[in-house]
Amino acid sequence: MSSTLNVPEIFGSDVFNESVMKQRLRPEIFTSWKQCIETSTPLELSTANEIAEAMKDWAIEKGATHYTHWFQPMTGITAEKHDSFIAPAEGGNVIMEFSGKSLVRGEPDASSFPSGGLRATFEARGYTAWDPTAFAFVKDGSLYIPTCFFSFTGAALDMKTPLLRSIDEVSREALRILHLFGDTETKRVVTCVGAEQEYFLLPKDMYAKREDLRLTGRTLFGALPPKGQELDDHYFGTIRTRVSNFMRDLDEQLWRLGILSKTKHNETAPCQHEIAPIFTDANSACDANQLIMLVMKKCAAKHNLVCLLHEKPFAGVNGSGKHNNWSLATDTGRNIFSPGKTPRQNAQFLVFLAAFIKGIDEYQDFLRCTVASAGNDHRLGSHEAPPAIISIFLGDELNAVVDSIINGTNYTDPEKSVMRIGVDVLPAIPKDTTDRNRTSPLAFTGNKFEFRMLGSSQSIAGPNIALNTIMAEELGKFADELEQAEDFDAALQKLVCRTFTQHQRIIFNGNGYSSDWTEEAANRGLSNYPSTAKCLPTYIDQKNIDLVTRHGIYTEDEFRARHEIHLDAYRKIINIEAKTCIDMVLHQVLPAALHYSRDLCNSIKTKKELGIACEAEMQIAQKLSKSSDALYLCCERLQRDLVHIPEGKENIVNYYHDVIVTDMEALRAQADILEALTDKSYWPYPTYSDLLFY
Ligand code: ADP
Ligand code: MG
Repeated sequence: MSSTLNVPEIFGSDVFNESVMKQRLRPEIFTSWKQCIETSTPLELSTANEIAEAMKDWAIEKGATHYTHWFQPMTGITAEKHDSFIAPAEGGNVIMEFSGKSLVRGEPDASSFPSGGLRATFEARGYTAWDPTAFAFVKDGSLYIPTCFFSFTGAALDMKTPLLRSIDEVSREALRILHLFGDTETKRVVTCVGAEQEYFLLPKDMYAKREDLRLTGRTLFGALPPKGQELDDHYFGTIRTRVSNFMRDLDEQLWRLGILSKTKHNETAPCQHEIAPIFTDANSACDANQLIMLVMKKCAAKHNLVCLLHEKPFAGVNGSGKHNNWSLATDTGRNIFSPGKTPRQNAQFLVFLAAFIKGIDEYQDFLRCTVASAGNDHRLGSHEAPPAIISIFLGDELNAVVDSIINGTNYTDPEKSVMRIGVDVLPAIPKDTTDRNRTSPLAFTGNKFEFRMLGSSQSIAGPNIALNTIMAEELGKFADELEQAEDFDAALQKLVCRTFTQHQRIIFNGNGYSSDWTEEAANRGLSNYPSTAKCLPTYIDQKNIDLVTRHGIYTEDEFRARHEIHLDAYRKIINIEAKTCIDMVLHQVLPAALHYSRDLCNSIKTKKELGIACEAEMQIAQKLSKSSDALYLCCERLQRDLVHIPEGKENIVNYYHDVIVTDMEALRAQADILEALTDKSYWPYPTYSDLLFY
């Protein structure tokens, strides 16, 4: 790490980006590539050959010896298989080779990636195809080529393909609305995403001593330390040197990879931090977030730290999430969710706002499913982070505008005229400057929506696919209606008023953590799925299948495959956690407590012989024995229940949630009592105090 860093110079220096392409490709090849991404048409092989050659030469200059098709299978993380550029040449030598064919298409063995039944075992092949809209880059001695991943039959086996489909779809439908407002300039509507990422950093040596952290990414045990996050002394606090060295190194690596890393700070919980890049188009943002997660892990190791991306590494302090900031912009750079200055722009803004509100209300279950995971179950609906109920926060001012439209009343006091949309009496919509409601799962923050329910470890693709598709659906329906209208302004007025009225229930500006809201939300008929097990069945509701197939985002098979994969992932994660619990109890927790108790008893025996008081030892030994017995019984129950798994995917998931998770909680409670009773020198792994306040 150099002490002075020329950021503009290093930024993107490891990326084969547009300016590098312009420099290194013949003009006609560069133009062909540009055309290919602008019109979504395939590249000629001869063009691909020249691009591949230039890419290879550039990558070798950057120290690369290998290339890899980098893809995003349905595990939610990324996968890579590296091939070197070498090809045999005369005289026992090699040359460095990379063809257009190898750039455009790859064939990794796909048999070990989840396919949810999309790929028969006899056809294990999967294919990767270059995504020419995302730039290749060099990392750790390899040229990384962002790719889509699909099966022999063409079914999407990844997260990127449906994301790209949804980006196109929302653009197509949004353009119809823009045209109705007389915008003929915009050729494409761009989904913009900025994902804030939370994470924990722990010293590597302490992490290594905890089997639960190593195997499951979270602590399955741990008595709460005397101090937690109650003093709020970590949030935005001074960053300790070791961590700031890590962050500096991380920024440098991310900048080299062309990622607009912007903000870093300490988060609420001890050892918790956040990183946020500047928003970009959704496809790049998704790649960037995956890269951020990868680089964070590697970079932490370099600094003798471990980066935890789990949603809930520690009980008793906040877990980690992602805030997915989402908006739509024209290709000319105008944010569609910025309230405009003219009545016409305001009317257009209100149409997009209405579409969003309607879409979220109608497809709240679908959206909820995209953030459901075993890890996120610890956050959503657990008195922290956002609640499990989806609602939209608009802020006081915008809410007043919506109310006035519903009630047909004035928004601005001075003018006593009734507010109409699309006509000149419409007031300028003020940008909300009030404090943001942190308890809302989905907040309008001035010119974008901030979706806050994402888990810290998950791919942001799923939620953005849902947001884009829902939006495409509603914009399409609005366009159908408005294109038929004889009187555009009147139809617009009617549409917006009707939509706000019918879907007002999804708007909530109050405290999302309060129990009153849970009750109120139920009265409003909003869904409340507090767990993955309860919400995942709704994923494949007919209306969701209709939605995603109508817009060509997924085929029904692709969609059902994802449902299976989510169910499967949940079961597997809880199963690993349960087995780790048992292992730690039998081999670490119980032995520690029993050793301590044995030594206490020996001491009691000796003291009694000598006639010395030993009340403390007696008391502790008693309690230890009681809790050890209880712990052993809990462990036996968990072991027994793990054998009696029912049949049927959904039953299994329910069983894991209702029975196994409950058993694990009971087990933990006893283990934590023992930890609090036992002499620290006997305890087999670092405690919460050691981990969080090192
Ligand atoms: P916060 O107060 O939540 O930290 P910021 O304004 O700092 O909010 O923005 C957080 C994230 O939102 C950043 O990644 C930022 O680039 C992104 N963002 C800002 N404007 C937009 C937009 N129009 N669309 C999508 N993301 C945006
Ligand atoms: Mg935020």
